Amino acid sequence: MATFYPTQIQTYLHCPRKYFFGKDREIRAKYSKASPHMLLGNAAHDALQVFFDVTRVRPPERTVEKLHELFRDAWAGRAFFSRNGWKQKEAREQAFGGDKATEAAWGKKGLDMLWRYVQTADLAAQPLTAEQFHEIWLTEHITLGGKIDRIDRRADGSLEVLDYKTGKPPRVDWKGGEPVKAPAADDATRRSVRPLGQDDLQLAAYALLVTRKFRGKVARCTYVYLNDDLDLFFEPTDEQIKEKEAEIVAYCDRILADRTFAPTPNPLCGWCDYRPICPEGEAHAATVGAGSSTPVEDVPF
Ligand code: SF4
Repeated sequence: MATFYPTQIQTYLHCPRKYFFGKDREIRAKYSKASPHMLLGNAAHDALQVFFDVTRVRPPERTVEKLHELFRDAWAGRAFFSRNGWKQKEAREQAFGGDKATEAAWGKKGLDMLWRYVQTADLAAQPLTAEQFHEIWLTEHITLGGKIDRIDRRADGSLEVLDYKTGKPPRVDWKGGEPVKAPAADDATRRSVRPLGQDDLQLAAYALLVTRKFRGKVARCTYVYLNDDLDLFFEPTDEQIKEKEAEIVAYCDRILADRTFAPTPNPLCGWCDYRPICPEGEAHAATVGAGSSTPVEDVPF
């Protein structure tokens, strides 16, 4: 029995060799390093998980100060998050190498991002689950798993899957046309809500997971861009979920049959943790100039 996660399948489609390295526990432990993006994203997710947990923070107590307190605790690996204390210390060391000023700048970036999110978020929301792991059987030998940031039950009983994003939204025009920047919020207190307008494996896989596990209708799956007052959503039909299930099973079978995990050098090789043990990626990064341009912010999450 093999379990596949949507993000891992995406990694495989991007570069099979990177997927292979990431699956090897020893290689991953030796080469995969925490980055500032990753640290910020993890602390924001952890803080939001507790913030929207009614058993820990009642809706009237949901203030920006409370969310900031949780974010600082998550960052430091203390209070609610103390079980991660030693891991968090190690991750901070890897990401910042003891450079306190840089670390503080990234922490401030996280505080600003959460402040911005609180201005437009529904603070009365009572999620069904938050940051929980879900798993379903797809075939006799394949299961699909995923940690889903949040599942909300809507007023009509249907479900909404939310995935927090701390990076930049994709540069696509959801009306179909030239790439455009994310739109500004419709007004100062509302989030911009737009259809995603493109195929998305992760959201479709989450729709499949939640439909099966909760035996309910997933009306909407949403990427919540914390820093951009922007929600990009996808409203899956039963037909689309079925199609995506067949596609995911085909990808999983392809991965299981792969014996070579050939590298696919690409523009992100310069930021790949496994480049030191990947001659093809090293050569490619040397030709395009590793680390010479801004990496895509979404990659670590
Ligand atoms: S360096 Fe590039 S080619 Fe090599 S594993 Fe990483 S992403 Fe793939």
